[in-house]
Order: sequence, then C-alpha cells, then structure tokens
Amino acid sequence: MRHGMCIADTKFMGNLFKKSFMPLMLLGLLTTGCVPQFEKANGDLMVLDSSSAEGLLSKTSTGNQSLGDLTTLRNQGYTISYLSMSSSDIQSVNGHNGGGYKISGSAITIYVSNGLASQEQAHVIAHELVHIKDDLEVDFYLRSYPYVSTASQNFVSTYKTQGVNNFDQRVVSYVLGTLFCTEARAYSRNQQLANEGLQTNFFAKGSSLPQFIDQAYIAKFGVSYGSYANNMASWCLSNSSMTQIQGQLVW
Ligand SMILES: [Zn+2]
Repeated sequence: MRHGMCIADTKFMGNLFKKSFMPLMLLGLLTTGCVPQFEKANGDLMVLDSSSAEGLLSKTSTGNQSLGDLTTLRNQGYTISYLSMSSSDIQSVNGHNGGGYKISGSAITIYVSNGLASQEQAHVIAHELVHIKDDLEVDFYLRSYPYVSTASQNFVSTYKTQGVNNFDQRVVSYVLGTLFCTEARAYSRNQQLANEGLQTNFFAKGSSLPQFIDQAYIAKFGVSYGSYANNMASWCLSNSSMTQIQGQLVW
C-alpha cells in the first residue's frame, strides 16, 4: 500500500528506531493491549441523521474539505452510510474515541458513538473521513507491494505471541509508522476544525498530540516512540498525503 522514495527520510526513520524504539523493545514492555478488531458488530444499529453535523462542517473551510472528501468518494462510486452505535460496539468493529468506519466493497459505513452532540459528531465524521481516504490510498499503494501487505498482516496478527522485537525492523517501522501518521493526520484535521471554532471535548489535543498518539495507539504494541514522538508527528505532517508517507515506509 505505499509508494515513493526519499533516501533522507528513510534514513531518518531508521535512526528514529535505532535511537528510541530498540531500547524500549529490549526492556520487554510488551503489554496485553488489544489491536483493532475487524469483526462485524453486534447490538443495535441506528441510522444517524448527519444533517446537523454536516451543517456545522459547512461553516468552516476545514469542514468543507471534509465535505469535499465525501463528495469525492461518492463521485468515485462509494456509498456512505452513517450508523449510531455504542462506543463498545464501535471498538469491536474498527474504531476508537467516538467513531469508526468500515469499507466493504463500494459501501462505506461511518460509525458514530451514540449520545454525542452535533459538534462532536462533526468531529467524528471529519476524523473518520481522513482515515477512510488514507485507508483507500494505502490499499491501492500496497497492491504494488504484496510482500509488505503480507508481512504487515502477519505482524499485526502475531506480534503478541512472537514479540515485536522478533520482527524485521522494516515491518515494525512500516506498521507503526503508518499507524502513527494515520492518527496524526486525522487528529490534525480535528485541530484545524477546533481552531476554526468547532468546539470539541475529545479531539483537539494541541501540543500533546504526539504523546497522546504514542500512548493511545503505539503503546498497545508494547513499544513507544518516547521523546521521538514529536519528531514522528512532525515527519508525518510534513508529508502531503498518505501515499507520500507510504512511499517512504515501504521497502
Ligand atoms: Zn483515528
């Protein structure tokens, strides 16, 4: 799922892991944290009326970017549905922190945690749309790199029993780097929305975003970027697209 090549940045990534990643792995900090599951959710599903949330998005330029993403996806032939469900059900599908999504063929479902105010729903939709677009780009990219796809899937499904430090560093860098950048890009959209006045109690992380991603997402793998999380976030956001990021993480 990735593409492109930049020797300088690849070297940077390598250094990043040598300096911050390896020591932590040697400490054996593997936890029992769970990785995202991709099962179908049980429980009650309710169609969400997204009109209020989309109305709020239309009032900011960042929100209009998100609405533009929706239009682009529809023009590409995808259908978009919104479902309201409990946070625990969302966790069991493929999500976190108020929202999730599922792509099944040309059907895209965005899950929104029930009980959220309209402005928080707007943040969920904006956040998940970044993920959906990036996910599709990654899938497309990896068609040219089937061995990266296979190695990554193997890593995600077996790291708990195998131990992260027993994997090829390129796989670890690829999976965790992609995960880190995925969240950096999505939360960055939320921050931009908040900066434009769309308030949120959950999604604007300010300067703590790198550490938040490190602890909420990377730590599940029993490792962490530690003090290099700031560099990692800067690196992620210095790239203009997930495709560009992939180009520097694949091998
Ligand atoms: Zn996310």
